[in-house]
Amino acid sequence: MQKIMIALLLYFAMANNSMAAVWVKINENNLSKLSVDKQSILQKEQLTRAWIKIEYKTPQKNIESPDKEYDLSKLLWYFNCAEQKSATSQVFQYLNAQLIYSAGIDVKGAEFIEPVPETDFDLAMRYVCSVRKPVKTPSATTPVSPPNSTTKPEPVKNAPSQAEIATEKPVLAEPISQKESEPAQPSKTKGKSENPAAHTAHWAYEGKAGPENWGKLKPEFVTCDTGLNQSPINIEDTVDASLKPLKLLQKFPIKDIVNNGHTVQANFKVGNILAIDNMSFQLKQVHFHAPSENTIKGKSFPLEAHFVHADAKGNLSVIGVMFKEGEPNAGLDKLWKQIPSDIDKPVTLKSRVLASGMIPANRDYYRFSGSLTTPPCSEGVRWLLIKTPMTASKKQIEVFESVLKHHNNRPVQPLNGRVIIE
Ligand SMILES: [Zn+2]
Repeated sequence: MQKIMIALLLYFAMANNSMAAVWVKINENNLSKLSVDKQSILQKEQLTRAWIKIEYKTPQKNIESPDKEYDLSKLLWYFNCAEQKSATSQVFQYLNAQLIYSAGIDVKGAEFIEPVPETDFDLAMRYVCSVRKPVKTPSATTPVSPPNSTTKPEPVKNAPSQAEIATEKPVLAEPISQKESEPAQPSKTKGKSENPAAHTAHWAYEGKAGPENWGKLKPEFVTCDTGLNQSPINIEDTVDASLKPLKLLQKFPIKDIVNNGHTVQANFKVGNILAIDNMSFQLKQVHFHAPSENTIKGKSFPLEAHFVHADAKGNLSVIGVMFKEGEPNAGLDKLWKQIPSDIDKPVTLKSRVLASGMIPANRDYYRFSGSLTTPPCSEGVRWLLIKTPMTASKKQIEVFESVLKHHNNRPVQPLNGRVIIE
């Protein structure tokens, strides 16, 4: 029985070999390097599978036979992107490119669990779920389920490792966060809009290039169509989770302001911090939407500010602040005075504007997982929406609307089972 299992595993691994692997590095730290074979990503019904490679900097002990060590794991992982759960179906371990251990179970018997945030499972899931595409003809690629027992296994000659290692392409030097999963990489967005793609493809808030067609405008925008954790959303039913107070450091003022045609964006000087989930996010920029993108219990607000934060890996966290009509906001006053009329020409701000002047003292918030609200609609964004609105005067709201000449709110997106906590 065990022999048949190993033969099946090898058959399966070799079937995967028929397409040259394209390893995309997702993460690297002191201990290991995590890559996904982009070619292997295959979606069928609720599940998306991918081959994952973890290269260890020091040999690891096999859990079942501690005398066996390995420095490379290749794993077939399955992801349920809708439920944000994953499972391992196949494991191959190698030492110096020699196969030392393999095991596997049919995905139907695999246990799907919610990955611990920031682990390899979690990072791989976020990547795979952001790039997956529905498969039209499942027969065109390798089967998702292992071959049934009537399938004749290939003769077991070469360990899959050698063949696979020999044919694989070099790992991309650039971390994936800069390529597609998080296009709003901080170092590349300075002075630009929420995402750089905004300037390479025409998209808009109305007409043929409007939100309902964003996913079709460019292959890179497909998540706008296929994503299941899209923003904005309507906050309706929430779960009380006694969220910790937001830890913010906001001592450094805005550096410059730019009108990118999609919004007005103000970029911050370096040093403002949001601490959340034991991670540290830098405040990059604030930009505005009129009317608001998120809604609270069906209520829209005339203006919403998005404070975009990024950590060193390019993970994003956005603090949303609603503005209702009322007293003028002093920060907005200073900002609005310097909005450039030229598109994409940032101007240095002459007055001192802090983020703290545009965030209410009561920082109770809703938290949910979402996406960029503009193409490419990348997911994995930690959203923190402040419950209490700020005020802006009628005139301030009108100034923004007249500068932009169009509304810039994407319609609310389905929750698809997401939970909003407060
Ligand atoms: Zn925004």
